[in-house]
Amino acid sequence: IEPLDVAAIREEYPILQREFGGEQLVYLDNAATTQTPERVVETIADYYRTTNANVHRGLHQLSQEASIAYEEAHDRVAEFIGAEGREEIVFTKNTTESENLVGYAWGLNELGPEDEVVLTEMEHHASLVTWQQIAKRTGATCKYIRVDDEGRLDMDHARELITDDTAMVSVVHVSNTLGTVNPVSELADVAHDHDAYIFVDGAQSVPNRPVDVQAIDADFLAFSGHKMAGPTGIGVLYGKEHILEEMQPYLYGGDMIKKVTFEESKWNDLPWKFEAGTPNICQGIALAEACDYLDDIGMDAIRRHENELAQYALDRLEAEGDVETYGPPAGEERGGLVAFNVDGVHAHDLSSILNDSAVAIRAGDHCTQPLHDKLGVAASARASFYVYNTREEVDKLVAAIDDARQLFA
Ligand code: PMP
Repeated sequence: IEPLDVAAIREEYPILQREFGGEQLVYLDNAATTQTPERVVETIADYYRTTNANVHRGLHQLSQEASIAYEEAHDRVAEFIGAEGREEIVFTKNTTESENLVGYAWGLNELGPEDEVVLTEMEHHASLVTWQQIAKRTGATCKYIRVDDEGRLDMDHARELITDDTAMVSVVHVSNTLGTVNPVSELADVAHDHDAYIFVDGAQSVPNRPVDVQAIDADFLAFSGHKMAGPTGIGVLYGKEHILEEMQPYLYGGDMIKKVTFEESKWNDLPWKFEAGTPNICQGIALAEACDYLDDIGMDAIRRHENELAQYALDRLEAEGDVETYGPPAGEERGGLVAFNVDGVHAHDLSSILNDSAVAIRAGDHCTQPLHDKLGVAASARASFYVYNTREEVDKLVAAIDDARQLFA
């Protein structure tokens, strides 16, 4: 695999040329949202310039063109993750909505007091809070697979927790706080051995490494367009066709029906059954363009690039002496992010001081409060990388941390 031509890639992102206080932006908050390359911006502009219309409603030419482009976007996303076809690809607004869709449409109907949902201690609130609240309403119980001191899942504990009482296993593929890459395909096997479904939170994996739903044997997979060079307002729920077929919709309205009388309604075919009302048409089409863009670069090369930057950042941060990093130790494969704390400097203070050097990182609990409780810290700083980031930017991050330390000395 060829290394990425980062200089060429950066040319597609004018936003990276922005300066704050005379310093060029160093954007290291990609796990929150990635930047959007010109060709995706162009797709959005072109759609509104040339094709904008509602879908599935009009017989006029524009509506037909918009409908075809929107439907084909589902095909493109299906191909991107190795799904069988558009029937398995529901467009939502983000990962969170995809989680809630399964929570409401499947969980509320299928779970009862005898059922268990198995999650991990490193779940994002999007899945943790969804299953916790659906469990409260159905009487089901949530259990959490332990995370060990090096940020890995305790697989013995997983095999202990996943039993014939388990109805759903919901796991984050790559942790947005620890960077851990979880063995989702192994967990899928354990879940399936007990006739449970597995829901994979792919928010931090689909944008950053090759993901094939059939290789993993995931029953559900969720991810967000805005973390993979696409726009906000578009997310994806993948579900195996036979499962989605049996599930009832939870949003009602136009487009999701086939036939309506005053007494009864019949649902539309997949995936439209789960896409009530006017969808995010432009964003869906732009997400398909983002898939083309990422495949042109190569998902394996992206995975390697991000892992290398993360390893470099880990080495540099560890060498500082007073920096604690979280997640798997250096040398172990991880997603392109490193969360850390500098001794004696609150993560929020650190991030606002780094902002003075135009270094953009995230500070807070990254929507993993229970995990932070377990780590014994209220917050952490997080640097996260994408296709356009460089080692020099990691050096700038470390230099800015050195400056921040001076302020607190
Ligand atoms: N899961 C994980 C692992 C994430 O990192 C995120 C985004 N921080 C989400 C879910 C939620 O994504 P969104 O805000 O796009 O719904």
